Amino acid sequence: MHPGKNSQIMHPIAGAQQQAVAFRPFPPIQWIFDWELFRVTITPFARKRRLRTIPAMEEPSDKKGSYMTVPCIRCPRTAEPYFTAKDYNRKLSNESFTYYRCGCGIIFLNPVPADLGRYYPDEYYEIPRTLGELAKKARTERFKIKIVNRFAKGKRLLEIGPMYGNFVYLAKEAGFAVTAIEYDAKCCSFLNNTVGIRAINNPDTIGALKELGEFDVIVLWHVIEHLPNLAETVRALAEKIAVGGILVIAAPNPDSFQFKKLLQYWMHVDAPRHLQLIPKLTLDAMVNPLGLEFVWGTTNDPNTKQSNKSGWKESCGYPYPDGLKKKLMRKLGRYIGLALWFYENIEGNGSAYNAVYVKREPLQSKNGPRA
Ligand SMILES: [Zn+2]
Repeated sequence: MHPGKNSQIMHPIAGAQQQAVAFRPFPPIQWIFDWELFRVTITPFARKRRLRTIPAMEEPSDKKGSYMTVPCIRCPRTAEPYFTAKDYNRKLSNESFTYYRCGCGIIFLNPVPADLGRYYPDEYYEIPRTLGELAKKARTERFKIKIVNRFAKGKRLLEIGPMYGNFVYLAKEAGFAVTAIEYDAKCCSFLNNTVGIRAINNPDTIGALKELGEFDVIVLWHVIEHLPNLAETVRALAEKIAVGGILVIAAPNPDSFQFKKLLQYWMHVDAPRHLQLIPKLTLDAMVNPLGLEFVWGTTNDPNTKQSNKSGWKESCGYPYPDGLKKKLMRKLGRYIGLALWFYENIEGNGSAYNAVYVKREPLQSKNGPRA
């Protein structure tokens, strides 16, 4: 490491080498007006230099000094501390959460808090009162049905984590036979009674899947980052897709411009609710051995465009209590978002991706390559 001139802008992992992972208070004003950081952010030369301050991820961990590593959640390697974050989005505690990054690309929270349920408070979902209200809310998600319709070969559809059902409502309207597995009991009763689909209330996705048959379409819209037992759940999902069927996954994009710049202050880290952030290529590597082949993806859907903008706004407002300062900082964030609008709309740069995988062959044995 090179302490000194660069230390204040160094990646948090660098500080971790000396002791524990240090928490760096969010300095949006310094972030914006700090000349050094500004230079590092915008010039290609400096960008390279900044990257060099991040230890190479492929090096064996015994060369990395004494700071703690943990086993990766999806491959046999060990992962190193990457950053610490707080619950900036909902401020339900003041705890710091440590995220690790493995050489396989995945970034994950460790340890997962034992009381994770308290970070999903009752008001997490604002359930619509009527079907009409739901139909109105669902309008913004029509692009999802277009994606599914383009690749689906059959009508049996399963959504994991539909909340109160924007998408399942549209899917039902489009003629799909919809099943859902949902963690929240109130959402489930709304889905069963008002939306009129089969919703299974079970926080254990794998257990719930065992009771179900095959599907032509399985969708997870911004859910995979919340799932415990990631590798096992993905495998269980792959088993339930009929040959020729599709798996559609939307997730935060850790290769996005915003994440590279904001790291732990990125809105989509959403600590501690997001247990993992999965780069698109890492997701490919996870599902390919399960007979799933990537066929289409984008980082440029309407939801992502929206969150590109709100990401900057929220991140800039994070550190301030409600009031004028927060308002002004959020406004500033809005302008940053507007200034970067075109750049973030370039494919690959957006803050989330949608990926469609087609199942080409049936899953053979449980002793195949590890996902
Ligand atoms: Zn790994």
